[in-house]
Amino acid sequence: MKMTFLGTSAGSPTAERNVSSIALDLLDERHAVWLFDCGEATQMQMRKAKISLAKLEMIFLTHLHGDHLFGLPGVLTTRSLMNNQSPLTLIAPKGIKQFIETVISISYSWLTYPLNIIELEQDGVVFEDDSFCVEAKLLAHRVPCFGYRIVEKDHIASLDIDKLRQDHIPVGSHYADLKKGKIVRLDDGRSINGYDYLGQQKPGKKLAILGDTTPCEASVVLAKDVDILVHEATQEDALADKAFVRGHSTTIQAANIAKQAGAKKLIITHISPRYSQRDNQKLLNECKTVFMNTDIAVDLATFEI
Ligand SMILES: [Zn+2]
Ligand SMILES: [Zn+2]
Repeated sequence: MKMTFLGTSAGSPTAERNVSSIALDLLDERHAVWLFDCGEATQMQMRKAKISLAKLEMIFLTHLHGDHLFGLPGVLTTRSLMNNQSPLTLIAPKGIKQFIETVISISYSWLTYPLNIIELEQDGVVFEDDSFCVEAKLLAHRVPCFGYRIVEKDHIASLDIDKLRQDHIPVGSHYADLKKGKIVRLDDGRSINGYDYLGQQKPGKKLAILGDTTPCEASVVLAKDVDILVHEATQEDALADKAFVRGHSTTIQAANIAKQAGAKKLIITHISPRYSQRDNQKLLNECKTVFMNTDIAVDLATFEI
């Protein structure tokens, strides 16, 4: 799995940073790409990052502020121009349905694929299948804004075929039960325990991708023990008052959340347009005074997870 930052600016784009969007490449895990937020020109950034619109399976929006939303009509309708037919699920706070229906009808657009819209109004699990679970929690912003915890389920351990052979255990339908760790009785009378023949179980990855927020308890809960926490850091430490009034966090506040949650790594994004790339080191250093394993996202940066 890998994460590509398509846009990392807060509020409006700069020459160096586009507005918010993150692509989560799950091609190895489920032949799909998930998108978190969809600021203006996200489809252009996807082209630059060579991320396929056709492979999009889920879009999660943290909130409906324009810098996280205005790229959505383009992504949805270009996908139709390419005559894509694979279903897409869109999960976002309440209001998204009206926005999409209005944009599609007023612009004489159409969709060539089923679009499943789920409007979020409260905390809870928003997606779950055999391999992933995504939970949303309300954060503390000026409008309803959610953070997401993405948990990949542990990979089931595979059977140690060599050991089965060594112990002269014949191949057969009982392999399925052994794989589940069950006790199986063989034709020759022996009882064997599946757990004795299972390899190492591989733990799944855990991520938290949070929307705009001031520091809050929900962020700590969502980011508990994650491999990567993506947290906004709109302002530097000295501008904490300004950040608070606008419903945002500072570098140090983001780092504190990572520390409290026991995250393994923090990536800060949603950087105010007042900063240029020359300020990256300063912002990063502020975070590192609290939480050492921090990176600052730049557009099109990719992180292997
Ligand atoms: Zn924003
Ligand atoms: Zn916002």
